[in-house]
Amino acid sequence: MRIGGLIKISTIDFPGVLSAVIFTQGCNFFCPYCQNPELVRPFGELLDEDGVLEFLRSRTQFLDGIVISGGEPTLVDDLDEYIKKLKGLGYKVKLDTNGSRPQVIKDLLERKLVDYIALDLKQQPESYSKDLAPLKESERIKETVNLLKRLGYPHEFRTTCAWPFVTEEVIEKIAAAASGEAPLFLQQVKTQRVYNQAFMEKFPRQPTREDLLRYRDIARRFVPCFIR
Ligand code: SF4
Repeated sequence: MRIGGLIKISTIDFPGVLSAVIFTQGCNFFCPYCQNPELVRPFGELLDEDGVLEFLRSRTQFLDGIVISGGEPTLVDDLDEYIKKLKGLGYKVKLDTNGSRPQVIKDLLERKLVDYIALDLKQQPESYSKDLAPLKESERIKETVNLLKRLGYPHEFRTTCAWPFVTEEVIEKIAAAASGEAPLFLQQVKTQRVYNQAFMEKFPRQPTREDLLRYRDIARRFVPCFIR
C-alpha cells in the first residue's frame, strides 16, 4: 500500500463519522489546481503501511471510520487487501476517487469493502479537458457515475469550481450527469501550493462565493446541491 500521508483525526471528511484519512501516493490525472501535488507523482517518501495500521489499531476506541484519499487510491494494487485489514479492525471505509477505475470500484462495492464513495466530477463525465486528465482515462468516468447510480450504495459527487474548467454550462452538464438523490457538493478552488502554479496563474480570477451560489442554483434543477 503506497501511503503518502495520514491525518490522524477528522470530523469533516466522512459524513457523520469520526475518521482518520489515509492518502495514497500516485495519480493518473494532473489537475493544475491539485492541493496534494506531492501525492500526484509517485516519487515522495512513503509511510510504513504496517506502522499506519498499528496506529489505527490503537485508535479503534476513538475513531469510527477511515477515509482513503489520494492521489488516486484505485491505482494501488493491494488496496483491497489493506481495506480488508481496516475492516478487520471494525472500521467503516470511505473512498475518495476520480472515477477512472470503475472495475476496481465495482469490485470493492460488491465485496462490501467500502461503505461510502465520494466521486470527483471535474467536468462533464467522458469529456474532460486534456489539461486535467488523459483522454483515455476520462472516458471511464461516465461508467463510474452510472455504476454508482445503478448499485445504489451511499455516495456523493464533488466538484471543485475552477476556471477555466467549470462554467455555468459545465455545471449544468455535471449536475445532469449526477442527477438523482445523491448530493453534489461544490467547493471553491484554492490557488496556493498547487500542482501546476504556472497554469493557474493564467486564470487569476477564480469563481467567488457568489459564482458558486449561482452554480448551486443551476445544479439544483437536477440534483441536491450544496456548497462546502
Ligand atoms: S486533484 Fe486531480 S491530480 Fe490531484 S489527486 Fe485528485 S485527481 Fe489526482
